[in-house]
Amino acid sequence: MAEVLVLGAGMVGVTTGLALQARGHQVTIIDRGSPGRETSYGNAGLIQTEAVEPYAMPLQPAALIQIAMGRGYDVKWNVPGLAAQVGAVWKYAVNSLPAAHRRASVTWGKLIRQSTERHGPLIAAAGADNIIRRDGYIELHRTAAKLQKAQKNAERFMTEFGVQARLIDRAELRAMEPSIKADILGATHWSDSWNSSDPGALVAAYAALFQKQGGRIVNGDAGDLHRKGNAWVADEATGEHAVVALGPWSPMLTARFGLKVPMVYKRGYHRHYRMEAAPHHPIADFGNSVVFSPMRRGLRIATAAELTLHPRSTPPQLRHGEEAARELFDLGAPVEAEPWTGRRPCMPDMLPLVGRIPDQPNLWAHFGHGHQGFTLGPVTAEILADELDGGEGWEALQPARLKARKG
Ligand SMILES: Cc1cc2nc3c(=O)[nH]c(=O)nc-3n(C[C@H](O)[C@H](O)[C@H](O)COP(=O)(O)OP(=O)(O)OC[C@H]3O[C@@H](n4cnc5c(N)ncnc54)[C@H](O)[C@@H]3O)c2cc1C
Repeated sequence: MAEVLVLGAGMVGVTTGLALQARGHQVTIIDRGSPGRETSYGNAGLIQTEAVEPYAMPLQPAALIQIAMGRGYDVKWNVPGLAAQVGAVWKYAVNSLPAAHRRASVTWGKLIRQSTERHGPLIAAAGADNIIRRDGYIELHRTAAKLQKAQKNAERFMTEFGVQARLIDRAELRAMEPSIKADILGATHWSDSWNSSDPGALVAAYAALFQKQGGRIVNGDAGDLHRKGNAWVADEATGEHAVVALGPWSPMLTARFGLKVPMVYKRGYHRHYRMEAAPHHPIADFGNSVVFSPMRRGLRIATAAELTLHPRSTPPQLRHGEEAARELFDLGAPVEAEPWTGRRPCMPDMLPLVGRIPDQPNLWAHFGHGHQGFTLGPVTAEILADELDGGEGWEALQPARLKARKG
């Protein structure tokens, strides 16, 4: 048994604490706020079993021209935002080419397919069933060509990964989702994915479980992490091991310990809207680059990626998402005065960093889950905990790969 410090109480940090605790370690989690109030609060709430391929950068000439011209809503950028991460974005683009993307998907798919079986026992033990739906989500298709492509995709995902999906026509969609008033040609029902009606509350419930089982959560700043003798110390908490799970804030800390992490920060926004009759499932409207998730606070409209240093007060992607939502639903007024914003911590090779930080005794990385950290937290937590206990870890996820490739 060891004393372990986990830095960060998002989905990734809290589930790291739980996985280590289950193996008999004494764990302290440090966060400067409350558990699950940052990126793990603001996401679309999907626990995805169908996202078997990591999110590649669109590289078709038409898509690139659209992005460069600032049209479309999938990726927005501005000069300072792009300039600050241009090297990482370039590597992300190179890794989005078919051969590299296929390689990453082999590892990614294995991780994603474990997500519900890892979340399941935690949801039960945390008593969080009331904020979990287990009947999938719906992806809309507006044209015959898109529907046909979706059919092929669903068949491929079924054959290669065992993903459950069903194509539904307009009549079935209307029956499943009477709140959709627009005439939509068809949809994919990704039926084995789960989702939460309050992602922040799920992390808080996991954190409460961790504390109930004897774990300690300290409110403090992990930024001063340092060595004292054989121990790691952060804000007066100590441990023989320290795990960096600070999501998008992780690279700043690891740089002090010799690990430069080229992260792509994909900003997203959300806002809740009142609705008399909300949809029964989350609705992905990728044609409009948004996901509509029915949450306890209202319908959450979550946007795609923006490469900007500072958030915008009236983000165009959210404005567009709201217009799309008003076409689809009887949407009420916004709940909050201002949108929420946060950044997806994306690695250029699309795989999270899970394992030992090179040349630092007992310092571990656990971050960089990109578009699916809410889904993957408990999956990679198990891999990390096993490696900390002497297991081999997963080679494709090792932080050492950054040094081997010179960044
Ligand atoms: C709009 C949007 C939609 C998304 N939708 C989904 C989805 O549907 N499904 C999915 O799986 N993923 C989704 N994601 C991605 C997912 O939210 C992230 O990958 C995940 O939340 C990352 O979790 P984390 O624990 O690594 O980081 P975080 O949740 O950000 O946690 C990091 C923690 O570190 C703490 N911290 C930072 N610095 C310090 C410091 N110096 N000292 C102490 N504490 C510190 C913070 O307070 C925070 O609590 C989405 C993301 C966005 C932005």
